[in-house]
Amino acid sequence: MSTSADYYEILGITRDAAGEEVRRAYRRLAIKWHPDQNPDNPDAEGKFKQCAEAYEVLSDPERRAVYDRHGHAGLRGRAGHDFNSMHVEDIFSMFNDIFGGQSGGGGGRRQRGPARGYDLETVVEITLEEVLEGCEREIPFKRLEVCTLCKGSGAKPGSKPIECSTCGGQGQVAQNGLGGLFRMVTTCPVCQGRRHIIKDKCGECSGQGRMSVQRKLSVKIPRGISDSQVVRVAGEGEPPPPQMSPDGTGVRGDLHIVVRVAEDERFERQGSDLITALEVSFADAALGGSVSIETLDGVSETDLDAGTQHGELFRLDGKGVPDLRTGQRGDLVVVVHVMVPRRLSNKQRELITALRDAERPAPPPKDSSRKNAAGKDSSSKDSSGKAAGKGGFGKATKKEDSSAKSPGFWGKVKDSFGT
Ligand SMILES: [Zn+2]
Ligand SMILES: [Zn+2]
Repeated sequence: MSTSADYYEILGITRDAAGEEVRRAYRRLAIKWHPDQNPDNPDAEGKFKQCAEAYEVLSDPERRAVYDRHGHAGLRGRAGHDFNSMHVEDIFSMFNDIFGGQSGGGGGRRQRGPARGYDLETVVEITLEEVLEGCEREIPFKRLEVCTLCKGSGAKPGSKPIECSTCGGQGQVAQNGLGGLFRMVTTCPVCQGRRHIIKDKCGECSGQGRMSVQRKLSVKIPRGISDSQVVRVAGEGEPPPPQMSPDGTGVRGDLHIVVRVAEDERFERQGSDLITALEVSFADAALGGSVSIETLDGVSETDLDAGTQHGELFRLDGKGVPDLRTGQRGDLVVVVHVMVPRRLSNKQRELITALRDAERPAPPPKDSSRKNAAGKDSSSKDSSGKAAGKGGFGKATKKEDSSAKSPGFWGKVKDSFGT
């Protein structure tokens, strides 16, 4: 998956850095972080790939402008190469022109089997409701295709590429690359590993043999998918690059669609369970009764027990989101939040004062000790408080009935998940 770090910071350049400066910065860092150069640094490959991603965006005026205005979010839906899935040598090969053919392993990985094109990555954002049902999305993206005019050769129709004399049509030459830092066999600097030289360039692709083509694909996002999971569409990436296979024969890369699930203010997701807070008045909590709970499927009516405590949980079975594999829905965990009114009408004040008076024990007789008097009728309530004794709010300074206490609100939520 692509990085969320700032592309300018990755390349160590200012936001007004011009094309050549971007190129130089990338070249320097790609050499610095080349995994061959950092055999003992497991982070090197990741940094190397990050630099390639930053360079791909900042070297393309159109994508750079979008990034400048909207950041990473702006680039969602504009497919780039999935560098994380690419081999280091393929990345070197892809930006071969920057390294002047002096990079290691250029001309494409020499591999067994047919040449394979690069993978692309794009991002799609869906809602929690779409996680519930699954959905289908139109995914627009650009990818390189074999030029239809020259069929990938890069030569003007009627003309033909001629064999490169520098490398004898091998695409590689024996050379001391970058002061001997890299392997000796390097991409031919004259033909860039293509083994041929084009005298008369194709007007359609400027001799590249490839052209950028806009494509749109309808993709099914399965129900139950989680944030950051990837839907892979096989064979919708690019054809093999020209230095591996000029006419594009071989295996196409894949398209990786990174699914981002938008935050939903109402629900917190934990696997296939959802958590929601239910605000109830003190009166409803004390008396019980019917309450409305917002679920992903709409409003659900349920009965609240009389005497429900702040922080208490209950589950609505099957009102969570489906499990990606089994399709079985999790639960909706409802956390009760007893609300204390911030302002009271005169009538409310009167009633609550009467309630307090009713709860207050009779004033102690003068000769009796205070200890025995406090909170006597609250002790019967305490016996039902299962949570008693677990890190509550009540301390010695408070009246005894407050020590019946509940553990912290979120503490209880956590407990319910055994975390
Ligand atoms: Zn062409
Ligand atoms: Zn050559």
